[in-house]
Amino acid sequence: MHEKIYMKRPVVEIDGDEMARVMWSLVKELLLEPYVDLKTEYYDLGLRHRDETDDRVTAEAANAIKRIGIGVKCATITPNAERVKEYGLKNEWPSPNATIRKVLGGTIFRKPILLRNVIPAVRSWKKPIVIARHAFGDIYDGEGLEFGQSGYVELSFKSGTSVNSVRKLVTGPGIAEVKVNSLSSIEEFARSCFNYALDERMDLWFAAKDTISKVYDAKFKQIFGEIYEKSYAQKFRAAGITYSYFLIDDALSRVVRSEGGFVWAAKNYDGDILSDLISSGFGSLALMTSELYSPDGFKEFEAAHGTVQRHYYAYLKGEPVHTNPIATIFAWTGALRARGRADDTPQLSMFSDTLEWAVKKTVEADGVMTKDVASMSAIPPSHVATLQEFLTRVQENLELALGRGEQK
Ligand code: NAP
Ligand code: MG
Repeated sequence: MHEKIYMKRPVVEIDGDEMARVMWSLVKELLLEPYVDLKTEYYDLGLRHRDETDDRVTAEAANAIKRIGIGVKCATITPNAERVKEYGLKNEWPSPNATIRKVLGGTIFRKPILLRNVIPAVRSWKKPIVIARHAFGDIYDGEGLEFGQSGYVELSFKSGTSVNSVRKLVTGPGIAEVKVNSLSSIEEFARSCFNYALDERMDLWFAAKDTISKVYDAKFKQIFGEIYEKSYAQKFRAAGITYSYFLIDDALSRVVRSEGGFVWAAKNYDGDILSDLISSGFGSLALMTSELYSPDGFKEFEAAHGTVQRHYYAYLKGEPVHTNPIATIFAWTGALRARGRADDTPQLSMFSDTLEWAVKKTVEADGVMTKDVASMSAIPPSHVATLQEFLTRVQENLELALGRGEQK
């Protein structure tokens, strides 16, 4: 009997729905529980249980992350009218991710998982490019106006009796839009980005268009610059990383010539677009993790993809499924690595590295891939694996790396 790797404190484990839930339990059973003395505080956010608890379980899970510091989450169904019918729900409950983010605040970092045989669309990209999107304000919180003739569009701020306004003559008919943001939200965003870059030892970019947007974007630039100088410049120098501000068009031309390896922070709308562009540039949704960092240092890790419904119905019919568990595995390794660092238990962080190595070896060296990866692979797969087969091979490689291969 080999001893299991010690875990000092638990992580919050948030279970979910459909195929993602199936992968969740397989990953635990095959790749975690045999090797790690896994301590978790478990919350079942499967749709039925959310419904039974009138969605209280979601807020409880979020608050548990505040208490324990680190969480790992399985994809969950965000109900729509169809799902209300399918599950006979009492209510069209809100997106769990939105609820959790409301409790924790913070920023989502989308990080691609690079495999040697999945060549990025941009040849020079050798390292991950992480997109940090400020999920607050901008046009997502905007108002629009259409008008039928020439006139003045006025933007005014009122509080009590004081009024502050600007106006602009428009030769109509025309349209106008207003967007808003809050300085405290921008400050939190900046701090989350600086903390993430430090944790990951990656350079940080922030890009906007302050030369044109002289109030709105300029304020973002100013806040990032001030917080950096005051609280992070020294830590960045010590870590050997840099913070740079770029005009967003300059950043775009730089990114296609870069080799990657940095965090790119963007305003809400820019981040919406960039995250889709960068993720498809690196491969697929199944090779992408999503990490929520709160300004207070709480962290939640998950796969970026959803519950993979189509595969789940095939699975229920007993058909072989080729769902890719890599992002689920990396959500767990992210959480366990963070736990290991926070608790000063390096064996736990090292286990995460080893498990990630086993995944990469399975695909890159053994040529064993799920269908989605096989279809993008630059080398022909030696075997197109089902979910089970893939996990079994990862387990074999993990045992090998842990020096337990001979046990089999
Ligand atoms: P999805 O579950 O990400 O799946 C979309 C398609 O992407 C799948 O049908 C599959 O394509 C491919 N795919 C995604 N993950 C894969 C994986 N691990 N392995 C192989 N292929 C994968 O998105 P969706 O269909 O839009 O949403 C389904 C449910 O997930 C919805 O109820 C939604 O509310 C929820 N959702 C949850 C989260 C979250 O909790 N973070 C995020 C997004 C969506 P093929 O069918 O072509 O194989
Ligand atoms: Mg988008």
